[in-house]
Amino acid sequence: MIIAIDGPAASGKSTTARLVARELGFTYLDTGAMYRAVTLAVLENGLNIVDEAPLSDLLGRLDLHLSTSDGETRITLDGRDVSQDIRSIDVTAKVSAVSAAPIVRQAMVPLQRRIAATRNCVVEGRDIGTVVFPEARFKFFIVADYEARARRRQLDMERLGETRSLDELIADLKMRDQKDSSRDHSPLRKAEDAREIDTSNLTINEQVTLIVEQVKNQLANRKPND
Ligand code: C5P
Repeated sequence: MIIAIDGPAASGKSTTARLVARELGFTYLDTGAMYRAVTLAVLENGLNIVDEAPLSDLLGRLDLHLSTSDGETRITLDGRDVSQDIRSIDVTAKVSAVSAAPIVRQAMVPLQRRIAATRNCVVEGRDIGTVVFPEARFKFFIVADYEARARRRQLDMERLGETRSLDELIADLKMRDQKDSSRDHSPLRKAEDAREIDTSNLTINEQVTLIVEQVKNQLANRKPND
């Protein structure tokens, strides 16, 4: 069974998805981490994403592994743990451009489907309910206003020892939203059958409870052939 959780950056979806997975005993799949790992590899190899041949070559030999331990996603690239490196400012600045490349999506989407094929998963991203798993049993689209999102991002950055102003963070978020929503392939968009949840004024606990309760209620009330 798939629970798809999509939404823009810093909307609260990662924390929510991780905790919902823990609560329900599902595997948590963070697809953003996969696009970030590809971006790190692109940067480390000095590639220009408009040059398709070297990018395709890189994707062909990329050894990407994801695992979840204690609810945290660990990701390795050619055997090296890059879980921290993929959160850097450089990767964050470039990831929207890299993930807009069709060949990058063509490489990642089958991998996401393979990982989720054999287990119950909470899959988090931008195009999970629309493109990767349009048949997902549950779909949620998480949103929040810019100020709430920038404050959350500011706290994340502080934990990494970085100080950024709210205005700067709001500008970054607007730029990433614009890029993620306007791209030709798999743009960020709410699936028609997704339930939208605005987390601007919700605590993490409230967000998680809202989703977990809905999943549990719907499963408890299902008819025999449902
Ligand atoms: O979720 P996170 O902010 O880590 O995602 C990083 C970036 O990866 C997003 O801004 C988006 O450009 C890309 N992404 C995507 N499709 C997904 C998940 C993430 O294009 N399913």
